[in-house]
Amino acid sequence: MRRPFIAANWKMHKTISETREFLSGFVPEVKDLSDVDIVIAPPFTSLAAVAEDVKGTDIMVAAQNMFYEEKGAYTGEISPLMLVDIGCRYVIIGHSERRQHFLETDDIVNKKINAAQKAGLGVIMCVGESLGEREAGGTFDVLLREIAKGLDGVSPLDLVVAYEPIWAIGTGRTATPEQAQEVHAYLRERLRVLYGNKADELCIIYGGSVTPDNVDSLMACKDVDGALVGGASLKAESFRRIVKFRKEQ
Ligand code: PEP
Repeated sequence: MRRPFIAANWKMHKTISETREFLSGFVPEVKDLSDVDIVIAPPFTSLAAVAEDVKGTDIMVAAQNMFYEEKGAYTGEISPLMLVDIGCRYVIIGHSERRQHFLETDDIVNKKINAAQKAGLGVIMCVGESLGEREAGGTFDVLLREIAKGLDGVSPLDLVVAYEPIWAIGTGRTATPEQAQEVHAYLRERLRVLYGNKADELCIIYGGSVTPDNVDSLMACKDVDGALVGGASLKAESFRRIVKFRKEQ
């Protein structure tokens, strides 16, 4: 009943011409897929190019970040209204790289999610524990805090939660399907506390070194509804195989 949701997070990669080169090899191959939601989150500078080149398809555009004010004296920031204006359907909020390098707190994440929803954007909210937190047995405590604080006052409409264990991001070390399923089931229970039966309709996606080689086994897990893909989304061929995960099983 949940439609698979596969998103590419390009981070700080690709110029506009590199973006267009990727899309020319990717869009024609996937544009007729009707059983998966596909999202591309390029850097801000490539948002317009992606929005233009996916026009007429169901592929959706996402930003990787935004500020929570609508406008004002915030040099260097981008508002939710600007993202809607350029053609974004989603925005990624609370990625661990933003929490780590740009000191985003749960409070900031919460403000951003509420502002994104107010502007009509869907939100891909990232949560996940560090290696130290996992080894100390603190995984569920971290997730509980991030979910409770980050989703305070947030609607379940167009909300996607991405479980991204920090130790698996960009490291080539993937959570096993069992580890992913255990955490996703826990997250769904927490979402049930907040949203009741609506929790069964929400996509909880996995991120952390997803590749064409491991996507099938992760997607076979009951509560893994999709993937947030960094490194393996940068090549059209590789990301194409990921979004076609079931067909190539
Ligand atoms: C990410 O950036 O969200 C991510 C999961 O990266 P990677 O797939 O490279 O681990």
